[in-house]
Amino acid sequence: MNDLIRVIPDFPKPGISFKDITPLIANGEAFLNVSKQIAQLGRESDYIAGIEARGFIFASSACALTEKGFIPIRKSGKLPGNTISSTYDLEYGSATLEVHTDIIKQGSKVLLVDDVLATGGTAIAATKLLKAAGLLPIGLVFLLDIPELNGKARIAEALPGLKTEVILAQ
Ligand code: AMP
Repeated sequence: MNDLIRVIPDFPKPGISFKDITPLIANGEAFLNVSKQIAQLGRESDYIAGIEARGFIFASSACALTEKGFIPIRKSGKLPGNTISSTYDLEYGSATLEVHTDIIKQGSKVLLVDDVLATGGTAIAATKLLKAAGLLPIGLVFLLDIPELNGKARIAEALPGLKTEVILAQ
Protein backbone atom coordinates (compact mmCIF):
# COMPACT_ATOMS: atom_id res chain seq x y z
CA MET A 1 0.00 0.00 0.00
CA ASN A 2 2.98 2.33 0.42
CA ASP A 3 2.85 2.79 -3.37
CA LEU A 4 -0.45 4.64 -2.85
CA ILE A 5 1.35 7.43 -0.98
CA ARG A 6 2.50 10.09 -3.44
CA VAL A 7 5.51 12.20 -2.48
CA ILE A 8 5.36 15.78 -3.77
CA PRO A 9 8.73 17.57 -3.53
CA ASP A 10 8.89 21.17 -2.32
CA PHE A 11 5.25 21.35 -1.20
CA PRO A 12 3.93 23.48 0.45
CA LYS A 13 7.35 25.15 0.53
CA PRO A 14 10.87 24.43 -0.70
CA GLY A 15 12.61 21.60 1.14
CA ILE A 16 9.44 19.79 2.28
CA SER A 17 8.68 16.34 0.79
CA PHE A 18 4.92 16.26 1.15
CA LYS A 19 3.35 12.83 1.72
CA ASP A 20 0.08 12.93 -0.19
CA ILE A 21 -2.46 10.38 1.06
CA THR A 22 -5.14 11.18 -1.55
CA PRO A 23 -4.22 8.24 -3.87
CA LEU A 24 -4.70 5.87 -0.93
CA ILE A 25 -8.09 7.23 0.11
CA ALA A 26 -9.19 7.23 -3.54
CA ASN A 27 -8.67 3.45 -3.53
CA GLY A 28 -11.65 1.99 -1.68
CA GLU A 29 -10.00 -1.31 -0.85
CA ALA A 30 -6.85 0.33 0.55
CA PHE A 31 -8.91 2.91 2.49
CA LEU A 32 -10.97 0.14 4.07
CA ASN A 33 -7.85 -1.89 4.84
CA VAL A 34 -6.09 0.92 6.76
CA SER A 35 -9.36 1.94 8.43
CA LYS A 36 -9.80 -1.61 9.74
CA GLN A 37 -6.24 -1.63 11.10
CA ILE A 38 -6.86 1.65 12.93
CA ALA A 39 -10.19 0.33 14.23
CA GLN A 40 -8.42 -2.77 15.56
CA LEU A 41 -5.84 -0.63 17.39
CA GLY A 42 -8.71 1.34 18.93
CA ARG A 43 -10.69 -1.66 20.15
CA GLU A 44 -10.01 -0.81 23.83
CA SER A 45 -10.97 2.85 23.43
CA ASP A 46 -14.31 4.54 24.02
CA TYR A 47 -13.68 7.20 21.36
CA ILE A 48 -11.34 7.85 18.45
CA ALA A 49 -9.97 11.40 18.06
CA GLY A 50 -8.59 12.85 14.82
CA ILE A 51 -6.34 15.85 14.29
CA GLU A 52 -7.53 18.41 11.72
CA ALA A 53 -7.59 17.95 8.83
CA ARG A 54 -6.30 14.66 7.44
CA GLY A 55 -6.49 12.88 10.79
CA PHE A 56 -10.28 13.38 10.54
CA ILE A 57 -10.42 11.10 7.49
CA PHE A 58 -8.90 8.03 9.13
CA ALA A 59 -10.31 8.54 12.62
CA SER A 60 -13.83 8.92 11.20
CA SER A 61 -13.65 5.83 9.02
CA ALA A 62 -12.39 3.77 11.99
CA CYS A 63 -15.22 5.19 14.13
CA ALA A 64 -17.83 4.20 11.55
CA LEU A 65 -16.46 0.64 11.42
CA THR A 66 -16.62 0.23 15.20
CA GLU A 67 -19.61 2.40 16.16
CA LYS A 68 -17.33 4.52 18.33
CA GLY A 69 -17.74 8.26 18.66
CA PHE A 70 -15.39 10.70 16.94
CA ILE A 71 -13.62 13.59 18.69
CA PRO A 72 -12.36 16.40 16.42
CA ILE A 73 -9.16 18.15 17.51
CA ARG A 74 -9.36 21.38 15.57
CA LYS A 75 -7.28 24.38 14.73
CA SER A 76 -7.98 27.46 16.78
CA GLY A 77 -11.32 29.27 16.50
CA LYS A 78 -13.32 26.53 14.75
CA LEU A 79 -15.17 24.84 17.63
CA PRO A 80 -18.29 26.68 18.83
CA GLY A 81 -18.70 25.25 22.36
CA ASN A 82 -16.57 25.38 25.49
CA THR A 83 -13.00 24.54 24.54
CA ILE A 84 -9.50 24.28 25.90
CA SER A 85 -6.46 24.89 23.78
CA SER A 86 -2.82 23.86 23.48
CA THR A 87 -0.22 25.99 21.69
CA TYR A 88 2.99 24.43 20.43
CA ASP A 89 6.04 25.43 18.40
CA LEU A 90 6.40 24.71 14.71
CA GLU A 91 9.55 25.06 12.63
CA TYR A 92 8.50 28.65 12.01
CA GLY A 93 6.06 30.16 14.49
CA SER A 94 3.45 28.30 16.49
CA ALA A 95 0.05 26.62 16.17
CA THR A 96 -2.92 26.10 18.46
CA LEU A 97 -5.21 23.08 18.72
CA GLU A 98 -8.57 23.00 20.51
CA VAL A 99 -11.04 20.40 21.76
CA HIS A 100 -14.56 20.67 23.15
CA THR A 101 -14.80 20.13 26.89
CA ASP A 102 -18.60 19.89 27.12
CA ILE A 103 -19.39 16.79 25.01
CA ILE A 104 -17.36 13.77 26.18
CA LYS A 105 -17.56 12.13 29.61
CA GLN A 106 -14.43 12.67 31.72
CA GLY A 107 -12.20 9.62 32.00
CA SER A 108 -13.18 8.21 28.59
CA LYS A 109 -10.45 6.25 26.81
CA VAL A 110 -9.36 7.81 23.52
CA LEU A 111 -7.22 6.62 20.63
CA LEU A 112 -5.62 9.56 18.78
CA VAL A 113 -5.16 9.40 14.98
CA ASP A 114 -3.29 11.53 12.46
CA ASP A 115 -2.05 10.93 8.91
CA VAL A 116 1.68 11.73 9.12
CA LEU A 117 4.06 11.68 12.09
CA ALA A 118 6.85 14.16 11.37
CA THR A 119 8.53 15.80 14.41
CA GLY A 120 5.76 14.65 16.77
CA GLY A 121 4.97 18.17 18.01
CA THR A 122 1.38 18.13 16.81
CA ALA A 123 0.63 14.72 18.33
CA ILE A 124 2.24 15.63 21.65
CA ALA A 125 0.19 18.84 21.85
CA ALA A 126 -3.02 16.97 20.92
CA THR A 127 -2.39 14.28 23.53
CA LYS A 128 -1.76 16.88 26.23
CA LEU A 129 -4.98 18.58 25.19
CA LEU A 130 -6.98 15.36 25.59
CA LYS A 131 -5.46 14.87 29.04
CA ALA A 132 -6.22 18.46 30.01
CA ALA A 133 -9.83 17.84 28.95
CA GLY A 134 -9.99 15.01 31.49
CA LEU A 135 -9.78 12.22 28.90
CA LEU A 136 -7.46 9.23 28.90
CA PRO A 137 -5.32 8.84 25.76
CA ILE A 138 -4.55 5.12 25.32
CA GLY A 139 -2.42 5.29 22.16
CA LEU A 140 -1.41 7.15 19.03
CA VAL A 141 -1.83 5.88 15.48
CA PHE A 142 -0.39 7.37 12.30
CA LEU A 143 -0.81 6.24 8.74
CA LEU A 144 2.88 6.91 8.07
CA ASP A 145 5.92 8.49 9.63
CA ILE A 146 9.10 10.25 8.56
CA PRO A 147 11.64 8.28 10.63
CA GLU A 148 14.52 10.70 10.09
CA LEU A 149 12.61 13.39 12.01
CA ASN A 150 12.58 11.17 15.13
CA GLY A 151 8.94 11.80 16.02
CA LYS A 152 8.58 8.44 17.76
CA ALA A 153 11.49 9.18 20.09
CA ARG A 154 10.14 12.64 20.89
CA ILE A 155 6.74 11.18 21.71
CA ALA A 156 8.31 8.46 23.88
CA GLU A 157 10.21 11.12 25.83
CA ALA A 158 7.28 13.54 26.22
CA LEU A 159 4.60 10.90 26.83
CA PRO A 160 6.28 7.87 28.42
CA GLY A 161 4.25 4.68 28.29
CA LEU A 162 1.95 5.78 25.48
CA LYS A 163 1.99 3.34 22.56
CA THR A 164 2.71 4.78 19.09
CA GLU A 165 1.76 2.73 16.02
CA VAL A 166 2.46 3.44 12.34
CA ILE A 167 0.21 1.57 9.89
CA LEU A 168 2.45 1.91 6.82
CA ALA A 169 5.83 1.69 8.57
CA GLN A 170 8.75 1.84 6.14
P1 AMP B 1 4.67 17.21 13.24
O1 AMP B 1 3.98 18.01 14.31
O2 AMP B 1 5.99 17.79 12.84
O3 AMP B 1 4.77 15.74 13.63
O4 AMP B 1 3.78 17.31 11.93
C1 AMP B 1 2.67 16.50 11.79
C2 AMP B 1 1.52 17.22 11.16
O5 AMP B 1 1.93 17.98 10.02
C3 AMP B 1 0.50 16.21 10.67
O6 AMP B 1 -0.79 16.72 10.97
C4 AMP B 1 0.75 16.10 9.18
O7 AMP B 1 -0.47 16.08 8.49
C5 AMP B 1 1.56 17.33 8.82
N1 AMP B 1 2.82 17.03 8.11
C6 AMP B 1 4.07 17.26 8.57
N2 AMP B 1 5.00 16.94 7.68
C7 AMP B 1 4.32 16.44 6.62
C8 AMP B 1 4.73 15.91 5.35
N3 AMP B 1 6.03 15.83 5.01
N4 AMP B 1 3.77 15.48 4.50
C9 AMP B 1 2.47 15.56 4.85
N5 AMP B 1 2.02 16.05 6.02
C10 AMP B 1 2.94 16.49 6.89
